[in-house]
Amino acid sequence: MSTGFLSIDLDALTANWRSLDEMTDVETCAVVKADGYGLGAAKVGRALMKVGVKRFFVAVAEEGATLREALGPNVEICIFAGHMRGDTDMIADMMLTPIINTVGQLTRHLEALPEHPFGVQLDTGMNRLGLEIDEWASVAEIALSQNCRLVMSHLACADTPDHPMNHQQLDQFHLMTDGINVPRSLAATGGILLGSEYHFDMTRPGIGLYGGAPFTNAVPVVKLDLPVIQVRTVEVGETVGYANSWTAERPSKIATLSGGYADGFIRALSGSANLWHGAQAVPLVGRVSMDLITADVTDLPELPGVLSILGPDQTVDELAERAGTIGYEILTSLGSRYQRQFSDG
Ligand SMILES: *Cc1c(COP(=O)(O)O)cnc(C)c1O
Repeated sequence: MSTGFLSIDLDALTANWRSLDEMTDVETCAVVKADGYGLGAAKVGRALMKVGVKRFFVAVAEEGATLREALGPNVEICIFAGHMRGDTDMIADMMLTPIINTVGQLTRHLEALPEHPFGVQLDTGMNRLGLEIDEWASVAEIALSQNCRLVMSHLACADTPDHPMNHQQLDQFHLMTDGINVPRSLAATGGILLGSEYHFDMTRPGIGLYGGAPFTNAVPVVKLDLPVIQVRTVEVGETVGYANSWTAERPSKIATLSGGYADGFIRALSGSANLWHGAQAVPLVGRVSMDLITADVTDLPELPGVLSILGPDQTVDELAERAGTIGYEILTSLGSRYQRQFSDG
């Protein structure tokens, strides 16, 4: 075994979906964009379908087409990017539901595929995707008289529960949608945790399913072990790795492991993360390079064959914090070189 070993616990994933589902009285969908947050959208999607997920969200039509092949015809697959030019055939053939973001997309959709279902995204203040209030006012009647399946918006600050933006967006969403007779959705993972006023008719969790903050009660889903290729002894004053960035201050044993920034250990982890041998921390030393990292194993009682970088002692969020980023980026950066094992049942 010369590549890292990524184990993905699908039972933990479905347990996280159930926990998020139990926090609301409404439909709980699942966001599986970016290949299921890096873990494999087909496997993740099938596991979630088995426990009752009926509606999935991805970023772009190509992701939706791949997911449709994996999941078959009986679930709804919604596309956050909406109905882009050139996507019409894929949307029709693969039965995708575009979430319309602009008046232009609405026109394109209703002209090209008049009977075909769609959703609408409204901008309630994030200023990223969706119709603004005056645009919505001008097309709401037409849109709602067609095959519109849902109206949604997205919160900018939901991971900060007392941020005033949450209430502002909630008020704006009410102002734009009260009285319509189409299902409404505002909450992703963070919004679910804000409480029932944010739940409307369906929720769209992503990161919480995969074990990440802000869903602090999540069960961890991923474990990642890296094989040790070589162990050497270095003397006081010797250096390790590119740019001589680490210098031994005592006679040290240095393990070189298979895994680097091409596998998602962004270079910002250099000198700041730990690997783990059981519950014992093993400091990463020197620079992270493309395929290799080096760790100081001097204090270990025995020389291990593998060290863990993600697992019970270092969660996705803890590793992210050491890299100065968020769990979302750690997960979606996980490379394609690992051996992946999906466990369930
Ligand atoms: C990514 C995304 C989600 C899921 O968000 P999480 O924070 O991962 O739960 C929901 N809705 C939209 C519009 C998104 O872009």
